[in-house]
Amino acid sequence: MSAAVTVFENPALKCFLAETGAETQWAQVLLRRNGSGWELRHISDRDGAAAELRQVAPDGLRAVAQFTAGGAFRPLKAAPTLQRGWRCLAPDAAALETALNQLYPGALADWFAARASPPPVTHFREFTNRQSGMYRIAQSLTDAQAAVVIHATCDARLCLKRRLWTVDGLEADGAGEKSVIPCLEPCAVLLEAARKAARAEQQKKAPAGSSQTKD
Ligand code: SF4
Repeated sequence: MSAAVTVFENPALKCFLAETGAETQWAQVLLRRNGSGWELRHISDRDGAAAELRQVAPDGLRAVAQFTAGGAFRPLKAAPTLQRGWRCLAPDAAALETALNQLYPGALADWFAARASPPPVTHFREFTNRQSGMYRIAQSLTDAQAAVVIHATCDARLCLKRRLWTVDGLEADGAGEKSVIPCLEPCAVLLEAARKAARAEQQKKAPAGSSQTKD
């Protein structure tokens, strides 16, 4: 008996390709059709000569995404600090998917998921209410305090994902703001910022000399 061969087709990639024209911007990356494949480069290198850009394989883009041009680690891959000076040729759709996932992990899947109505968004309260251990303290932030943390962490100068989740009193990012990559729930960087802010609030309220504050 011969086994049937199943060709797995990623619906997110299929949808993305159907909507991608000759040129598409994906946060800080410019994608251009290149024959039957694609060329990727930093948007700021749009007009750079190919020969002046370092050629990187699709699976080599992870190393590009890990550090800024100055060598600093990038904990948030959607930070607007993607280094320039590289060029990647993706000969087919599978290679393009690899390249995109190295640069912006999970973004293609989130972009596709966000097309659902309603999109699968986890708002701040829902997210923090399921935290335990050292992150449970984030639940103690008021809405206003949480909004301050969100402004400070998710600002376009620090993250290019379009935030779709909210806390009461704070609007989600509007369409056309930041990039087409959605943020469907608070990330680890946001959670850590919320933990620190809650901890600081707790310490402010503690009697002088008290050491009863906890994470
Ligand atoms: S939670 Fe904020 S900082 Fe984190 S990925 Fe989303 S928008 Fe960016």
